Amino acid sequence: MSFTSILGHDKTVKRLRAMIESGRVPPALIFHGLPGTGKFLAALEFAKALNCSHAAHREKPPAPPQPDPDDLFAAAAPPPPPPAPEPEPAPPHTDPSDSCGACLSCLQAASGAHPDIRVVDTEMQAAFLDEDESANLKIDTMREMTRWAQQKPMLSPWKVFIVRDAEAMVTNAQNAILKTLEEPPPGTIVILTVSRKNSLLSTILSRSCVIDFGALPREALATILRNGGADPGQAEALAALGSGSLEKAAEAGAFLKRAAALRPSDPARAFKFAAGLPRDSHKARDEVKTLLDLLLARGRGAWRNAEGPAKARLTALLRRTLDLKRMADRNVSYMLILETALLESERAGIKLEDLVKPG
Ligand SMILES: [Zn+2]
Repeated sequence: MSFTSILGHDKTVKRLRAMIESGRVPPALIFHGLPGTGKFLAALEFAKALNCSHAAHREKPPAPPQPDPDDLFAAAAPPPPPPAPEPEPAPPHTDPSDSCGACLSCLQAASGAHPDIRVVDTEMQAAFLDEDESANLKIDTMREMTRWAQQKPMLSPWKVFIVRDAEAMVTNAQNAILKTLEEPPPGTIVILTVSRKNSLLSTILSRSCVIDFGALPREALATILRNGGADPGQAEALAALGSGSLEKAAEAGAFLKRAAALRPSDPARAFKFAAGLPRDSHKARDEVKTLLDLLLARGRGAWRNAEGPAKARLTALLRRTLDLKRMADRNVSYMLILETALLESERAGIKLEDLVKPG
């Protein structure tokens, strides 16, 4: 994997490559975009390309690592500069702004075991704090990250922290990383991936360089799904339903599967379909919202071609669906919302099968 595996974000990747090639990398970056658009994958590839050992011709960050096998965890002190290590010979295909995929650093990055590339997320937090996974990133976790940031890199020129879904940071956790973002130790880069930029403190936003990830173009989404093992027809169908997000495409795939398992003549199928919602309330809400979006898209399409009473029924359905979408953000049963949406859409002539049919 390398930057060539990041599809649908050509301009953004070009910007990231330019940073790597010039060696001028902002110490605090925000990768912002809808869930399922590839921000986290891009952050990993960026970190990997930055630390690839075949990047020796590039300008190095202010303080390259000072290998000291007896004292790997000590705080940074100004030691005398060591002689520059001999770079490994670059393979002929290596792009100066991308990773080679073959050096030790790239192999460690690809396996998730790179000592200087750390992912901070709720899963890591659960292991670190030895507790169940929580929806929030806590102050203790972020304080630990700032302590790691003070240590010298072990292997590479750059120490990269990727805070995944950084909107999960509670306010005091966000405050805890402000100083690291403002005065980062040399060679330290913090990347925050977020889908809702406004959930970050303005003091974090003002210290960071924001890189936007737009919705994935349909063709890129279909290619990613094909590369993930979907057959071409299925990939096209899910890409059409995915609204530029791999996550939404996967949810639509789950709908298709659940809908296919129900007989069209089954009078209770709206209830049975809704009963298949995930137990996790965040996932259930996301699925319900995706289905309401599909209903809105299908309803608007039908409304344009409808006349008379049918048009009035569809107008009412669209209004009702928008209401249900607002309710999904409040504390209302997701199953009830889904049942209501499905029953009302059938009444307006839009069947469950129509909702999950690409159009
Ligand atoms: Zn490499």
